[in-house]
Amino acid sequence: MEVCGYKIDNIKTSFVISNHILALFSFNYIENYSDIITLILLYQLSSLGITAGLHRLWSHRSYKAKLPTRFLLMLLESSCFQTDIFNWVKTHRVHHKFSDTEKDPHNINYGIFFAHIGWVLVKRDETILEEQEKIDILDLKNDPIAVLDNYLWPYDDFFMCYILPSIYTLYYENSFMKGFLLYGCLKWILVSHATWCVNSFAHMYGDRPFRKDIQSAENKWVSLLTVGEGWHNWHHTYPYDYACSDEGIFLRWNPTKLLIDTLGFFGQTYDHKRKKNTN
Ligand SMILES: [Zn+2]
Ligand SMILES: [Zn+2]
Repeated sequence: MEVCGYKIDNIKTSFVISNHILALFSFNYIENYSDIITLILLYQLSSLGITAGLHRLWSHRSYKAKLPTRFLLMLLESSCFQTDIFNWVKTHRVHHKFSDTEKDPHNINYGIFFAHIGWVLVKRDETILEEQEKIDILDLKNDPIAVLDNYLWPYDDFFMCYILPSIYTLYYENSFMKGFLLYGCLKWILVSHATWCVNSFAHMYGDRPFRKDIQSAENKWVSLLTVGEGWHNWHHTYPYDYACSDEGIFLRWNPTKLLIDTLGFFGQTYDHKRKKNTN
């Protein structure tokens, strides 16, 4: 099927629409404030798998992590159901290589809808697929955790995203569906839209103090939604910086940096690369 010249990816589109429809039914299962707080905490926790794991560790190699931490980050990113590590990294490295051009998988110049969710729903352009295949992922192939995730996908994501929360609520609240709909489908919606906001809103709205010739911008609202990933003008200027922001955690909302620093304190992460020595 084609819409506005774009070929629709039927599997991904069905998956996205199903999640949105099922998430509507999840509201019937919200019984008190603690359910909402649990939902928000799980959304934030899962998001750390994307920001600290898929993005800052595996895509940019901005710091190193020991095997138990990499395994933990793999479990967290799996709970977000955003493809396997290999594919996520290839897409993101192409995004940085060709930011805001026609080879960018979520090119902001095609409009905010395309950059946010449209690119997920359509079949990827041949030229972008070719560029993805040229991306060097030898580092991932040498990482047993990334290889394991690639081998287990999509079963690990399905289990972590939908089945584990369902087992949790079945055990503690005698309801399989509550976990599936609320902490599975609705949480997937929250994490996914937050992640997509980086590609859409943080490539359109905000200040550009570090490089004015690029579209990525400093957006505090996106940072709030994405555990600190909205300082995007800095990030596209210095993508190797593990903090993904110019200042430390007291001046820039950045729970992901706090997590990496805490893990670093216990020796679980090391070689934190930084543009300048701020904390
Ligand atoms: Zn970007
Ligand atoms: Zn990046």
